[in-house]
Amino acid sequence: MKEVNIKIILAAIITMVIPLLIFESNKNNNLLDVFNESKLAEQTINDLIVLNEDKELVANKTYDKKFIYLAFKKADELTSYIIDSKTGEEKEFYNYIKDDKKEEFNKKINELLYLKYPNFIADVLKNSSKRTYEIKDNEMIIYFSSEGIVPKVEDDLFLKVNYNEIKDYLDFKVTLDSDYELENGYNFDKNKKTIAFSFDDGPNGSRTNKIVSLLKENKAHATFFMVGNKMEAGKETILNVLNNGNEIGSHSYDHKNMKRAKLEDIISGEAKTNDIYKGITGKDLNLLRPPYGNITKEIKEALNMTFINWNLDTEDWLHRNKKHIVDYVMENASDGDIILMHDSYDTTVDAVEELLPLLYANGFQVVSISELANLKGINLETHTLYHNLKEVQ
Ligand SMILES: [Zn+2]
Repeated sequence: MKEVNIKIILAAIITMVIPLLIFESNKNNNLLDVFNESKLAEQTINDLIVLNEDKELVANKTYDKKFIYLAFKKADELTSYIIDSKTGEEKEFYNYIKDDKKEEFNKKINELLYLKYPNFIADVLKNSSKRTYEIKDNEMIIYFSSEGIVPKVEDDLFLKVNYNEIKDYLDFKVTLDSDYELENGYNFDKNKKTIAFSFDDGPNGSRTNKIVSLLKENKAHATFFMVGNKMEAGKETILNVLNNGNEIGSHSYDHKNMKRAKLEDIISGEAKTNDIYKGITGKDLNLLRPPYGNITKEIKEALNMTFINWNLDTEDWLHRNKKHIVDYVMENASDGDIILMHDSYDTTVDAVEELLPLLYANGFQVVSISELANLKGINLETHTLYHNLKEVQ
């Protein structure tokens, strides 16, 4: 009797305990999964910290429980990783762009690249997969490799992208700033070496327009000194020059040597030129480049304008040779120079095409004369002749 009772009790205990054990074991398995998942990410992070032990850890942050952004810095060079929070796998940033928005995201990035960089750089960067992402709270910065860019550039190539610009494409939650500065493209920089390009004797139709396109593609501007009696026929060209951020000055009404002309003819010629120009653009001409650079004290006193000559003469009209122009500019250009060319020759157009990327790659920005004066803090005075716009004249 006693034995039976024990068996019954044992059986009862077993029937009660086994489901409990099974239940407990399931529970443990679930716990184990969660534990393993975070453990996997943790393991990856630890491995990467060891791998980058010579660098400073600058970010270790989980975004939206989806990925961990890990970043290291050494001498300003950023190394970053994106790790799946669950699997611990390294992922591409691109994985966290919504599938149906990847194309729009690429379009946006390319748009910003062309806003910020000359075409010869953006053309390469848009296809470059060598990108490092710096993920910040309110923006991300994409660093690009300069590999494949010709001519070679030394600048750090990057885009700052505020999340407001791309919020619809991201597959994770981000902080949105109510006020943020748009990556609004290229800005001329006071601290960069700066030179002004000037083109005389236009407007010259397709050659002038080609130069305007080249300037635009290279984030550059120039001043075009135009001849009054050619302006009416070149209306469209004039507007195209201005609409692309360039500047126009007078190059006299009929390109006569002012030293040999009568003062009253010069005065009436300038008035006529200004009238025609104003009729086309609604603006007045403030800058004058006298033909051949010839000017007298009397003319300077008589005309209420700023006189602009040059300090670097490419002699493009004489040589009609692309290489001569390119070599001359690259060998001689320095901060504050005003360079003389003519938009009358194909060889000059070809030289400009080669020069603009070369100058950019060598740390120069190319601007109009008024922009150069602004950047140098020089107030262009009327009745005054300038040959260059270096900070100390
Ligand atoms: Zn001329």
